[in-house]
Amino acid sequence: MTDEKTKGQLLAEDILTDPKTLGETHNSILSEASEFCEGYKGFLNNKTEREVVEYVIPILKERGYTEYVRGTKYSPGDKFYKVNRNKTILMCTKGKRPVADGLRVSVAHIDSPRLDFKPHPIFEDADMAYFKTHYYGGIKKYQWTTIPLSIRGVVKLANGESVTVRIGEGEDEPALMITDLLIHLAQNQMRKTASEVIEGEQLNILIGSWPFDDEKVKSKVKLAVMNILFEKYGIREGDFESAELCAVPAFKPRDMGLDRSMIAAYGQDDSSCAYAEFMAELDTVEPEYGTVTIFADKEETGSDGVTGMRSFFFRDFIEDLAQDEGCEVRHVLRNSICLSCDVGAAFDPAFGEVFERNNTTYLNRGPILTKYDGSRGKYSTNDASAEMMAYIMGIFRDADIVWQTGELGKIDQGGGGTIASEISVHNIDTVDFGVPVLSMHAPIEVTSKADIYMMYKAVLAVYNSSKPKDF
Ligand code: MN
Ligand code: MN
Repeated sequence: MTDEKTKGQLLAEDILTDPKTLGETHNSILSEASEFCEGYKGFLNNKTEREVVEYVIPILKERGYTEYVRGTKYSPGDKFYKVNRNKTILMCTKGKRPVADGLRVSVAHIDSPRLDFKPHPIFEDADMAYFKTHYYGGIKKYQWTTIPLSIRGVVKLANGESVTVRIGEGEDEPALMITDLLIHLAQNQMRKTASEVIEGEQLNILIGSWPFDDEKVKSKVKLAVMNILFEKYGIREGDFESAELCAVPAFKPRDMGLDRSMIAAYGQDDSSCAYAEFMAELDTVEPEYGTVTIFADKEETGSDGVTGMRSFFFRDFIEDLAQDEGCEVRHVLRNSICLSCDVGAAFDPAFGEVFERNNTTYLNRGPILTKYDGSRGKYSTNDASAEMMAYIMGIFRDADIVWQTGELGKIDQGGGGTIASEISVHNIDTVDFGVPVLSMHAPIEVTSKADIYMMYKAVLAVYNSSKPKDF
């Protein structure tokens, strides 16, 4: 036996790839990653787009960001932000180069699947009061019963006042819940397909059972519950028509695994990417190219609406930046690149049959760089070019970033487009990039701390890179 490598071993090392986990190549990274994720857990307590925007503004101010003012002459390293309707935000660091040379953009979304309230949500049945909901985004409806829920949102009262609601999260606050059928009477239910086991109209949140003490009124429980909302917030039933309320899982973000290597929390699609790019934006000092870090809304329902990524808000802002420096927006866009930061699927051995082993992505192998997604014959995909892939991978190699590439799952198992298409339509070279997640879209999703930390380092590497775009 000799320690000398054989010809075949040496050749294999040279020309074959040998994927390894971060745990193998960077074993000691877990402690740094855990420290990084303490801030992430705080970020995760913000469970709607409005809450995230409200949370980051004071942090931005503390870190020297000011609200963007059109016509201002910004100097390299200056930091500014622009909010869109309290739900999305663009955060920027001015580069040394003029915007005409292009920007380094990253976008993540801050909305997550949840249960929105219907316009007339409150009703009484069998002496119990409920809120009726309409689910937002793609969920397995059965997962949302018998778990504690928290109610979040904003109500615009008839008198012009705006009320912020946040109930059901604190230890001393009441829990709210959707009930499920007892197993003893579930013979028919158990024969249904999973999409019908709980139907949309059964997603009613139980909110009260004790009547208002007055023989002469009808719907006594509804009145009693409505009175609690009226006394606490001044909300009348009619005010629900001008409200944006939703129910989200009331779980707190927690470390997961006996080794605490993972995070279990609601909304990690896409808060894991949002937090990573947010921290990278904050830590970018005086970049060669200006940065634009975007928190988008409405991704889970197709990026429509004025706060979705299809809104002209983004392009109008870039046009303002172009005009401030006396150049054309189309030149800024052509020279820019974008990381469309959204989570990907981590391989789950319990459901191994939906993944194709050679092209799947795994927990703890770093963020996923995805050339294309889409469904069937690559319909509705951005499909980054070889030049764009090589450009980003070159930056990653130079900065010692670990990443992985792959596809979402087996061909024709499902799939879908991403926000990347909404960016590339502006003629910006874009590629998908994101943290692998287990149980995506479930009330509790699982990520790896090391992946999230590496995601942050990767976005920071792109922001810090002075490598010119040569394609
Ligand atoms: Mn997502
Ligand atoms: Mn999603």
